[in-house]
Amino acid sequence: MVRVRFAPSPTGRLHVGNARIALVNWLFARKLGGHFLFRLDDTDTERSTAEFAAGIEADLRWLGLGWDSFARESDRMDRYAGAIEALKASGRLYPAWETAEELELRRKLQIASHKPPVYDRAALRLDDAAKAKLTAERGQPHWRFRLDGRRIAWADLVKGETVVDTASLSDPVLVRADGRPLYTLTSVVDDIDFAISHVIRGEDHVTNTGVQIELFEALGGAVPGFGHLSLLVDATGAGLSKRLGSLSLGGLREEGVEAIAVSALLARLGTADPVMPVAALDDLVTGFDLARFGKAPARFDPAELRALSAHCLQIMPFDAVRERLPEGTGEAFWIAVRGNIATLADAADWWRILHRAPEVGPIEDPAGVLAAAPDLLPEGPLDGASWGIWTKAIGAATGAKGKALFLPLRLALTGRDHGPEMRLLLPLIGRDEITTRMGKIDRG
Ligand code: GLU
Repeated sequence: MVRVRFAPSPTGRLHVGNARIALVNWLFARKLGGHFLFRLDDTDTERSTAEFAAGIEADLRWLGLGWDSFARESDRMDRYAGAIEALKASGRLYPAWETAEELELRRKLQIASHKPPVYDRAALRLDDAAKAKLTAERGQPHWRFRLDGRRIAWADLVKGETVVDTASLSDPVLVRADGRPLYTLTSVVDDIDFAISHVIRGEDHVTNTGVQIELFEALGGAVPGFGHLSLLVDATGAGLSKRLGSLSLGGLREEGVEAIAVSALLARLGTADPVMPVAALDDLVTGFDLARFGKAPARFDPAELRALSAHCLQIMPFDAVRERLPEGTGEAFWIAVRGNIATLADAADWWRILHRAPEVGPIEDPAGVLAAAPDLLPEGPLDGASWGIWTKAIGAATGAKGKALFLPLRLALTGRDHGPEMRLLLPLIGRDEITTRMGKIDRG
């Protein structure tokens, strides 16, 4: 059974980089009939807030990435305590008392003497008397995981054969002096308990994976498969982290970017597959394949996202947007305007234009199109053919054609020189309103 998880820390809102990880996990689960767990890594009580947690949840819902189950690390402290006891009992966790300043000084000395800045395991050599003395002097210790220090290799689902030599790493601190467990441990305990089959996350976690594979083994858990996606970069090749504010999902949403466009782009970015507009998330599942993602950083371009968002609207069925359109709009309205809008706010503008006569200045109309038009409006209900019949008659009466014929009419009826097809707008404006608008025009 495929079981994956998206495990953000509620220390901020989601940005496009996190959203990509969430989406890829979600698509992986959907494609393989698996289970998608949404887990909040909220053991960092200083930086985690309920507001951020609620915000992340809202962001995922906005994207349409529903989850099959939910877990919160702060609810699972008992489980971590059990794992900590087990690791202490097996001798893999050892107490240490060094302060951050002491460690920093040692690090500098190591670098100065051209040694790798790795924790020297001084605490591992303390005898009981020394430990008792340190406890008396400094209080409770923090706890480090004694790495085996070996080549940890795995067949990464994205990067291929990947190796981390844990001999080159410091023994990680898994428990703080105040007793709180740290992410490196809690994540593994969760992944074991929730039977996670594949851990799919960003490339920034590759080193963690080396350490965590040792932890899975030390805790007697099954080691999941791993896939590390390359990071997103901007047009200059720089990481996105500096501008995360502007690339938050909340910010994009406010800008009017469609959630489906975010997914359509992020599901293909970093693969050789073309980015195509889609109308629904399900349309992304079939073509999804984790193996298509490359090792090179993926370039994220906000302008590409905005253009894609407009293209997604063009193919979106009325049912997918009706709740977000002004009260009273119908399918005919949506079909008429969806090809000429960048955001849904533009659709609302068109709704206003159809219902409230726009401000129209003097219109250049040397051929007298506007004078001839009212009497030539076809009899009977207006439909998709009426515009053609009407303009043909006006053309015949005035000799105007092309722009000289169409532009004065478009301006008189909509106040704009471009927009949706007049053939579709005409029935939506309606006969009475057309007559009224024609009557009000200042013909120069
Ligand atoms: N909370 C971690 C993060 O946001 C989760 C990493 C993981 O997927 O294991 O980076």
